[in-house]
Amino acid sequence: MADTETLVPKFSDPFVTANGETRAEVIYGRTKTLWFNTGTLCNIECVNCYIESSPTNDRLVYLTMADVLPYLDELDEAGETGIEIGFTGGEPFMAPQMLAILQVVLERGHSVLMLTNAMQPMMRPRVQEGLLALREQFGAQLTMRVSLDHYQVSYHDEERGAGSFDLAIKGLRWLSENAFTLALAGRTVWGEDEAVSRAGYSDLIAKEALRVDPDNPTELVLFPEMRPDEDPPEITTACWGILDKDPNELMCASQRMVVKRKGAASASVVACTLLPYDEQFELGQTLGEARKSVRLNHSYCASFCVLGGGSCSA
Ligand code: SF4
Ligand code: SF4
Repeated sequence: MADTETLVPKFSDPFVTANGETRAEVIYGRTKTLWFNTGTLCNIECVNCYIESSPTNDRLVYLTMADVLPYLDELDEAGETGIEIGFTGGEPFMAPQMLAILQVVLERGHSVLMLTNAMQPMMRPRVQEGLLALREQFGAQLTMRVSLDHYQVSYHDEERGAGSFDLAIKGLRWLSENAFTLALAGRTVWGEDEAVSRAGYSDLIAKEALRVDPDNPTELVLFPEMRPDEDPPEITTACWGILDKDPNELMCASQRMVVKRKGAASASVVACTLLPYDEQFELGQTLGEARKSVRLNHSYCASFCVLGGGSCSA
C-alpha cells in the first residue's frame, strides 16, 4: 500500500499510485451476476444513499425491455446461462416495464435478485398481482431482497424518513405471507457489533414471522459503509499478497452493471454497482466490450472492496 513520498495525487493515474507503485487491477472472468440499474428515481431519499437516489434524481433513466434484451442475448451467446441477474435502482418497481423485464429474464432461465425498499411502488395492486404471477410461475428463481437499514424503527427512519420502517414492514409481511424467497439488507452505519445486529434482526424476524434466517449471511446481508470522505491507502499489485486477498473475489471480477444515462442513445456497462457515475469505470456499450480488466483507481476500491470486504451480491 502506498504510504511514502507522493509524486502525483492519489487515485489520479489508472496505472500508477501516488508514490509510483503499480496500481492493482482486477481481471474479468465469467459473469456471475449481471446487474441492471433500472434508474435512479426513488420514492424516498435516504441520508446515506450511495447513488444519491431521490424522487428527482434521474441521472440514470428507467431501463426498458429494448435496453435489456441485447444483454440477455449476449449472455446466451457467451454460454452464460442460468446466472444471477440483479436489479437495483433507485427503486426498481418505479420502472414502468419492470414486471415485463422480470418475466423475460426468468423465462431465459436466470435467477433474479430484486432489490427493493418494499414500499408503495411495490405495493401497488398492479405490481402485487404481477409479482404473485411471477412467484407462481418461477418460485424460488426470484429472490426479493428488502432494504431494512436497522431492526429498530428510530434508526431506520433516521436514514429513510419518518414512517418508512412501518411501510417496509408492511411490504415485508406481504412478501413473506405470499411465500416469496426473501432476504434483508441492513446497514452497519451505527457501528454495532455483527452478533448484536443479527440478534436484533432475529427478534424482529421472529416477531413478524418473516421467512428469513438471520444467521445466514445471504439472507441477512449487513453492508459495510461506503464513506466518500475517507482517505484510504491505494491498492498496489503487492497488496494481494500482503492482505492475503484474492482479486477474483471482488465484485468487478465477475459482475457488471448496465446503466442508461440521461440523454444517452443507449445503455452502457460499468464495472460494478458501486461506481455508476465515474466515467473511468464505464467500460463500453456491450457486455463484450466490458469484459476487460479494471484498474482500482477509486477510493471505494480501497475502502469498501479491498479493505472493507463489501460485495453487493454477498
Ligand atoms: S431506497 Fe435505496 S435507492 Fe432509494 S434513496 Fe434509499 S438507499 Fe437510495
Ligand atoms: S469499487 Fe470495488 S467492485 Fe468497483 S471497481 Fe472498485 S474494486 Fe472493483
